[in-house]
Amino acid sequence: METGIKQLHVSVPPKGKSLSFRVTKKHQKVGSITSIIYETTGRAREYCELAANIYRGCEHGCTYCYAPSATFRKREEFCLPAVRKNVLKQLEIDAIKLEEIGEKRPILLSFTTDPYQPLDVKEKLTREAIKLLHDHGLKVEILTKGGKRSERDFDLLSKNPELSSYGATLVFTDELMRSEIEPHAAPTSERIDSLKKAHEMGILTFVSLEPVWDPNQTLEIIDMTHDFVDLYKVGKLNYNKQHKNVNWIRFRDNVVHKLENYGKKYYLKRSLQDIS
Ligand code: SF4
Repeated sequence: METGIKQLHVSVPPKGKSLSFRVTKKHQKVGSITSIIYETTGRAREYCELAANIYRGCEHGCTYCYAPSATFRKREEFCLPAVRKNVLKQLEIDAIKLEEIGEKRPILLSFTTDPYQPLDVKEKLTREAIKLLHDHGLKVEILTKGGKRSERDFDLLSKNPELSSYGATLVFTDELMRSEIEPHAAPTSERIDSLKKAHEMGILTFVSLEPVWDPNQTLEIIDMTHDFVDLYKVGKLNYNKQHKNVNWIRFRDNVVHKLENYGKKYYLKRSLQDIS
């Protein structure tokens, strides 16, 4: 189906081909030579092809989080995060190998944990991970709901802007809903302030509008942030009964219209593009 929707930044394989279709020979090697940095698969791959999870688990407690099932853990256990054993040592070994093969793709921190959950305030491993990846000429893409906690490392990101981007996931403008559904993550207003600060420091910023819980709140977020956000990535809500309450075709039309009106770069995830 031709949707007429613009693709920006991320190329998409021909319809009917899986996303792994795009993995080149060189890239296939990454997963086999590294232990912390890995090739993503499935829907995650549309987002970023390489990722690293510095922590195991996440204490933000988002009720829609898919990571407990993706990592085969009970939700209660997942919410008690821990540092991965020898994580920085292994990450450095990975980084040396990726530098050797000239890897240019960004490495997302993180998919199945949050790099700026409260545990990181004490452990500071995300800071060390950024330094280490930058030292080996590797690009870092931050994705967090940590708000202010993440600002600690803006000095590192702004020192190497060509190797850095900073993103926040924004789902709610209604703070009551946010506190019920993402109970231990930073408030939306704090995440927005951090994006603004990152932008002012010359760091490329993006917003992950995923999952879309309530289309009106998502559209409102764009109105509130378009002045200081470089790129939007939009993805549906999946695996949740709230999904049925949304008219996804209407939402897709509205979000594209708004983003184009503001002249913003955007990427719609395939599951949203393919709805007919
Ligand atoms: S911040 Fe991300 S990893 Fe952490 S609970 Fe929420 S959705 Fe899961």
